[in-house]
Amino acid sequence: MKICRYDDDRMGVVIGDMVHDVTAAQTEIRASTPYTAKVDPVVAALTTWRPKLEAMAKAAPGKPISQVKLLPPVARPPKILAAPTNYAKHVQEMQQFRDTVPGLARFSPDIEKAGIFLKSNTSLVGPSEGIPMRFPDRRNDHEAELVIIIGKQGSDIPKEKAWDYIAGYSLGLDMTVRGPEDRSFRKSIDGYTVLGPWMITADELPNPADVPFNLHVNEEKRQDSNTSFLIFDIPRLIEFASQFYTLYPGDLYYTGTPEGVGPVKPGDWISLKSLPQLGELKIQVRAHQK
Ligand code: MN
Repeated sequence: MKICRYDDDRMGVVIGDMVHDVTAAQTEIRASTPYTAKVDPVVAALTTWRPKLEAMAKAAPGKPISQVKLLPPVARPPKILAAPTNYAKHVQEMQQFRDTVPGLARFSPDIEKAGIFLKSNTSLVGPSEGIPMRFPDRRNDHEAELVIIIGKQGSDIPKEKAWDYIAGYSLGLDMTVRGPEDRSFRKSIDGYTVLGPWMITADELPNPADVPFNLHVNEEKRQDSNTSFLIFDIPRLIEFASQFYTLYPGDLYYTGTPEGVGPVKPGDWISLKSLPQLGELKIQVRAHQK
């Protein structure tokens, strides 16, 4: 199943090129979730609600997806985790970059030592919102990533059990302004965490260890890789983070970016494509308005 959020915070099921409105389910799920629950209510309810959502989608009239404003498919992630330096060729390019540009933040090329970092929840946007770029005089980079959406609460999850904790997947951009500040500061600018165009449930991705994806800026191909090159694969990422944090339904987990990161400027269109079921994440970079 493909689930999106669109227009004025509506919830949709995507079938073919059409969005079917299931907002009534979203309203009921949110109303029945305790305020203090550390979850995204819709993601937490997905397994239980799935048959009902499918029936509702079939009965609801469709609207062409090209005519809706896509928002991030997860409205309230409890937290946003992100893996640094998780592709060998990206580690190499960052090493070279840091050797030639003075004053950049130090980084550990070893994910085991560096650990996972967090991005601000309020940096999250969907495709229709654009990326309001700050600091145009500095280098602002795209990072194309496959994103895991956690579906079940767990701590100290062994990698053999990790698949049970995944609700689904989406495409993401971990936007970054390069510089000397702490990583989470530079990567938490409003709009610097992009998710979309929709989320797919885990059953739609038969082999998460072999997901090709590529990123274009305007017409130029910048990144082209596959999750088969991940240093920490998906089960190990979940095992690693859950040794430090309890994972909750709706947590987003950016799995790291491959080589080819590069600068963008206002007006640029970024397009991230992968397997057909994941859709195309297309978003424009724009100037930040003070
Ligand atoms: Mn990243």
